[in-house]
Amino acid sequence: NLEQGPEGPETPIQVVLRVRPMSAAELRRGEQSVLHCSGTRTLQVSPPGGGPDVAFRFGAVLDGARTQEDVFRACGVRRLGDLALRGFSCTVFTFGQTGSGKTYTLTGPPSQGEGVPVPPSLAGIMQRTFAWLFDRVQHLGAPVTLHASYLEIYNEQVRDLLSLGAPRPLPVRWNKTRGFYVEQLRVVEFGSLGALMELLQMGLSRRRSSAHTMNQASSRSHALLTLYISHQTQMPPVDPGEPPAGGKLCFVDLAGSEKVAATGSRGELMLEANSINRSLLALGHCISLLLDPQRKQSHIPFRDSKLTKLLADSLGGRGVTLMVACVSPSAQCLPETLSTLRYASRAQ
Ligand code: ADP
Ligand code: MG
Repeated sequence: NLEQGPEGPETPIQVVLRVRPMSAAELRRGEQSVLHCSGTRTLQVSPPGGGPDVAFRFGAVLDGARTQEDVFRACGVRRLGDLALRGFSCTVFTFGQTGSGKTYTLTGPPSQGEGVPVPPSLAGIMQRTFAWLFDRVQHLGAPVTLHASYLEIYNEQVRDLLSLGAPRPLPVRWNKTRGFYVEQLRVVEFGSLGALMELLQMGLSRRRSSAHTMNQASSRSHALLTLYISHQTQMPPVDPGEPPAGGKLCFVDLAGSEKVAATGSRGELMLEANSINRSLLALGHCISLLLDPQRKQSHIPFRDSKLTKLLADSLGGRGVTLMVACVSPSAQCLPETLSTLRYASRAQ
């Protein structure tokens, strides 16, 4: 349980593995499950047709019987939330092939209709963190101001999921005070949990409708929801439209990893793309360099993609990054599952 981990942002990346249950379709096709958890931190892979089991160790391992609440607790997201309240930038991202449960883990199952909320028991890490954050802020009596933005990166183009008009590609810029930021991104102040949930629903439904027209593009796009937490004693921003300085909590539903094959030797995270997803490649590259103690921060190539630019301050050492690697238990998915497991175990 990562909540019992040491205080403070000491390890740059923490990794949790989630195995989703077999789907109805997988069961109907009579596919075998090849994964089982042994203890709370080890996953055993039994190759079909015999051969020795292969074991992978992570910060926590959760099997298909674990609930959304179990996952939220095991991920220790509250610790990231507290760091964000103290001014750090923290990120939670889900990684894995399409259909492995990334979106379910972050936001629960798709809504059953316009304005129909996800049942509380199925709410994902994001809704649970939002509720926790409001409780926490009230409990601390801290005068904080909260803002949110929600964007999608598709084909290296940034689209605002909260834009008032039709979304158009927005440029990513850099300056000394803000670091990397998206120009003209809508950053919305909110004062209640309900208002934040509405922003989430707006982004999710926009993401789905664009996925429909772009032929399942949602599996090839990254969605980033960022919460900006500023204490009211902090200086207000100079430019209108700029979020105030403070902590950040970013949730990233990454593109499906099946477009990317992990290769390379131990301790190294080299990625090769079949069909290039530049952001996923760059993320893997930055992570591998961040884990190398010899490497200087200034040499991490965050500039290589939009995703790594926007995650630079949390990946770059000012906060904690949590990676939830998602896999299917089915033998049919084993090649992709192994590539996810290798990517995830090299990231820690
Ligand atoms: P991804 O975002 O990785 O492509 P999804 O989150 O959309 O995958 O999950 C694929 C399907 O499996 C969805 O129908 C989802 O509701 C279901 N699913 C995923 N994880 C679970 C789980 N832990 N329990 C029940 N259903 C799940
Ligand atoms: Mg998804």
